[in-house]
Amino acid sequence: MSYNVFVTRHLTPDAENKLYTFCDTEYWQEETPPPYPVLLEKTKTIDGLICLLTDPIDRNLIESAENLKVISQVAVGVDNIDLQAAAERSIPVGHTPDLLTDATADLTFALILAAARRLGEAINYARGGHWQTWGLTTLLGERVHGATLGIIGMGRIGQAVARRAAGFNMKILYTSRTRKANIEKELSAVHLPLPQLLEKSDIVSLHVPLTEETQRLIGRTQFKKMKPHAILVNTARGAVVDTDTLVSALKSDEVGYAALDVTDPEPLPHTHELYQLPNAIVTPHIGSATRTARNDIALLAVENLIAGLKGDSLPNAVQ
Ligand code: NAP
Repeated sequence: MSYNVFVTRHLTPDAENKLYTFCDTEYWQEETPPPYPVLLEKTKTIDGLICLLTDPIDRNLIESAENLKVISQVAVGVDNIDLQAAAERSIPVGHTPDLLTDATADLTFALILAAARRLGEAINYARGGHWQTWGLTTLLGERVHGATLGIIGMGRIGQAVARRAAGFNMKILYTSRTRKANIEKELSAVHLPLPQLLEKSDIVSLHVPLTEETQRLIGRTQFKKMKPHAILVNTARGAVVDTDTLVSALKSDEVGYAALDVTDPEPLPHTHELYQLPNAIVTPHIGSATRTARNDIALLAVENLIAGLKGDSLPNAVQ
């Protein structure tokens, strides 16, 4: 039996070859996501959907897709999907954890280092012809080795960041819904409530999923608790941080530096004030953007989809 599948963007060649042998597949050809009315129309009669985090898979869409048997997201975070609506129709939802953990933790560390050592400013300084001499106090940043790192959300990526931090002899604090005995033992990480973690950390790194509880988790009250030179790194989801308040906090030096791979709104318009601030850097949601990780997650998304179409349990279903 052949199934009809819609994929909201092109995948990697390996993943498309795998899918080709199993279903009739339509790919959205553009680089930008299908507009919502198009997505709604395309999904009305399909059996399976492969989507990205930029596609709003809401209740309306799920209820109108009468034949839909499986939703397979090419990402670990699924905040764009109405999981409750999918569960009510017993439609399994797949995602792609683990395979992007190291890539995202690496990017997190790249942002930590870039923010602490002001790499963006330093590169522009040299390129801009300002490098006249070696200056004792030129472009001073913050130390990374031996600093205190506060991890918010000690899951797969949070733990991978903590392991990298151990190599920099950092003191690791964390907050999470549950204590992580393994990481406390392995890295002497200390579990703290969020306010205390913010007060004690030189660098705060966000690794929670975007949920009702974590939306705007970091706002005015939290910025006031942070150390004046503290660095905020966000590779989780943009809406975990209150963007307007972050801009004010950076302008008033209440927060020392922000390094953001994810923003709210996303994409961040190129006219946004954050790009003008000397103490902020923004990357365009590239956490998992290595050739290996992106190919691996595309292949896993295809495996999740095929299992769902067959009525088997998904290799990686969202809990
Ligand atoms: P994960 O393993 O599920 O880890 C999430 C952690 O957050 C868990 O430890 C969880 O606690 C904790 N948590 C959840 N709600 C919380 C709350 N209200 N307060 C405190 N802690 C809370 O997920 P992951 O694989 O590490 O991925 C984390 C997130 O990173 C994803 O959801 C995604 O949004 C984002 N991400 C971004 C990129 C990128 O390209 N920038 C790439 C990959 C992932 P428990 O362990 O107690 O449940």
